[in-house]
Amino acid sequence: MPVSGLPPYDENNIFARILRGEIPARKVYEDDFALAFHDIAPKAPVHVLVIPKGPYVSISDFGAAAPADLVAGFWKAVSSVATSLGLDQPGYRVLANMGEHAGQEVPHFHVHLLAGKPLGPMLAD
Ligand code: AMP
Repeated sequence: MPVSGLPPYDENNIFARILRGEIPARKVYEDDFALAFHDIAPKAPVHVLVIPKGPYVSISDFGAAAPADLVAGFWKAVSSVATSLGLDQPGYRVLANMGEHAGQEVPHFHVHLLAGKPLGPMLAD
């Protein structure tokens, strides 16, 4: 059981299949630690997902169980993807859903990079 309390990692979740090349994705960046690709149902003009290359169901699982080089490499990839896409000005939002109350749909840790327009308040309500 991952530390987050979510079910064990499902090797056939959609992002695991993207990592294995079984499902296509519009990739924007890849290195030894992370893969970034466009969200299939964008919620903003720029909506990119960044995922670590490892079997972690959530941000809690990743922080607790991933090796330090992967944690560092992943977070470096997140910010460098944003910079390379030209998002630093006028800014962007990084968001990670974890578990039921956040509405996490895909049980492979990922962060959303959202940009391209004023994004409004942090939460809908
Ligand atoms: P979350 O609710 O945080 O788990 O977000 C999951 C995200 O994955 C949603 O924004 C989906 O639109 C996105 N998504 C689901 N399947 C795919 C896919 N095959 N390629 C790209 N994005 C996907």
